[in-house]
Amino acid sequence: MFRDKNKRGEDRRPILIGALLLILVTVAGLTLALSQEIKYSQDPAAAKRMTLLLKDYDPKSMLHVPSHEVPRAKFPVIDVHNHVNDAGGVHGEEIPPAEVIRRMDAANVKKIVILTGMWGDKLQGLIDKMVKPYPDRFMVFAQMDWSKINDPSFSQEMVQQLDDAVRRGARGLKILKDLGLGVRDSSGKLIPVDDPRLDPVWEECGRLGIPVAIHTSDPEAFFTPTDKNNERYEELMTNPSWSFHGAKFPSKQTLLDQEHHVFEKHPHTTFLALHVANWPENLDAVSSWLDKYPNMYVEFGAREAELGRQPRRARKFFLDYQDRIMFGTDSDPEEAMYANYFRWLETPDEYFAYAGYPGQGRWEIYGMELPDNVLEKVYNKNAEKIFAQFKGVNQLGAAKP
Ligand SMILES: [Zn+2]
Repeated sequence: MFRDKNKRGEDRRPILIGALLLILVTVAGLTLALSQEIKYSQDPAAAKRMTLLLKDYDPKSMLHVPSHEVPRAKFPVIDVHNHVNDAGGVHGEEIPPAEVIRRMDAANVKKIVILTGMWGDKLQGLIDKMVKPYPDRFMVFAQMDWSKINDPSFSQEMVQQLDDAVRRGARGLKILKDLGLGVRDSSGKLIPVDDPRLDPVWEECGRLGIPVAIHTSDPEAFFTPTDKNNERYEELMTNPSWSFHGAKFPSKQTLLDQEHHVFEKHPHTTFLALHVANWPENLDAVSSWLDKYPNMYVEFGAREAELGRQPRRARKFFLDYQDRIMFGTDSDPEEAMYANYFRWLETPDEYFAYAGYPGQGRWEIYGMELPDNVLEKVYNKNAEKIFAQFKGVNQLGAAKP
């Protein structure tokens, strides 16, 4: 009995120490609370304490608002701006074609247009790899061979190369931003987008009924200094060659003027001005161009962030030009990426990260909740309409020996 009692006494000791500690902590807490006076003037030392780097800043939104998952698009989708497994080396990792198909099926993407198909053997390799096994699921565009720009017969060579590409199965022509910003002749002079040597190529596209997907200029911020005021500062620091600021380059306006000169000069050719004609920051301007050039269309690859941060203006743009806008992503076909685009187009969700956040800037986006008839046009009908313009390979002459 005694021993037992004594044992219980020993057992009680830690409880007593615990209680004592609790009292000490409480007293200390109260003292701290009393000393933490809430001030209404800013800490003059704040600037010194704010040493967190921009790249490490990852704030979590505290908004409690509805959030919708949209893993499958409401209508079948044609992604008109992609580079998956391309021939031009724009794509990232090679993805087995069957895996691309699995992801497309999961997201309700019925077709992907691979824009960077090159020409000749490389184009053939891409068609054999992607289009031959899945003729209804992939479409490939051809490109120009700028290494021939100094040839006296450049125009005819390019028309022949294009005809050959279409004979092999290409269904459009892709022009990268290097036209206007990088392609030079032997004298070192930049080739403008409206160089007359390209006129026969634009005309041939119109004659064959194939669209020209054209990327001219780039985000407005790429033409301004990479400094503290640049809204794409981190993107330009990560990719310094994307800056076109300075006297070495034509201005954004000059490039766009050259491009529009081409649209105007070739009214029977359909132009798909990529990345919302590269001025989604100024939808009033893009709207005026769509009014002026009936042969111009747009897609929104890699511009979800730009459009998503101005949901009211963007929604009006989609309603106004519902027959001229196509779905494009310019991203590896991943289910999460597609789900993000669908959420932006289909839901009224507030303030969520765009696909690839914060790559283009530290802002978030808002859903547009587009009506069904507009969604269907953007998802597939507008693209179907453009691709139905193809006149057929019988428009081509006999293959050159
Ligand atoms: Zn692209």
